[in-house]
Amino acid sequence: MTLIRCENLSFAYDGRRVLQDVNFQIEPGDYLAILGENGSGKSTLLKGILGLKAPATGRVTFASGLTPSKLGYLPQKSEIQKDFPATVEEIVLSGAQNRQGLRPFYSKADKALARKRMDKLELSPLAKRSFRELSGGQQQRVLLARALVAGRDLLILDEPFAGLDPLVSQDLYRQLADAQQEGMAIIMVSHDLHASLHHANKVLHLGSRQLFFGSVEDYRQSAIGQSYLGLSRQIPQEGPVGQAEAFDVCEVCAAHEPRERR
Ligand code: ADP
Repeated sequence: MTLIRCENLSFAYDGRRVLQDVNFQIEPGDYLAILGENGSGKSTLLKGILGLKAPATGRVTFASGLTPSKLGYLPQKSEIQKDFPATVEEIVLSGAQNRQGLRPFYSKADKALARKRMDKLELSPLAKRSFRELSGGQQQRVLLARALVAGRDLLILDEPFAGLDPLVSQDLYRQLADAQQEGMAIIMVSHDLHASLHHANKVLHLGSRQLFFGSVEDYRQSAIGQSYLGLSRQIPQEGPVGQAEAFDVCEVCAAHEPRERR
């Protein structure tokens, strides 16, 4: 089953084309890393998938029963209202608003899901605390829990961990891996190339158009992948570390261990 299929998508602002020729699809359990320089169209594409920006050409098709309002979305940290006057539990539960319909109250199932997400993200002790009193990392955890209540099939994240302490983002990557294990698909824009390629199984590389879509393995072998990885490899390494070896090690996962040893 395909959750989302994007065909011949292009986007423009005031008639200026900023992204074109985008064609890809997401299956359940996929983890798609969207890569590209600043201004390459990553956020615009996410807005298109979320139904916040109409495509200039092409279309986004969803699996039966899935709509943009049923996707979990975690925006960039800078877009988050840090002084939002609500408690942690209210914010997490508000993720279920898209399923409320005309009901004035949340259903028992939604409340149970919110409790489960808060437990998993270790937010239960903070349930009654005001969101605005929390640290940046705690706030991001609350918003991840909210997104996991909103989206049961697909989670969309736009540089969600930028600016967070590495230990905090390590913890959040683990939470995402857990959600993925449960069958959740993930689409994530991130500048953390190493972590993205470690966790993802598919890559979409944009540069005002689609430069690559395919598996992480194929991306590593591709000309664009090698050149992008080469650019990011300018941080000096100790000793003669081979390329593949350097990039099999995750920068944020437990003890920096390769995936297969965890
Ligand atoms: P990225 O997320 O990869 O940094 P964006 O999708 O934000 O890229 O931007 C792609 C292009 O669209 C850039 O040239 C940017 O200046 C332009 N753009 C983004 N948002 C707007 C907007 N609201 N109005 C006009 N141009 C925009």
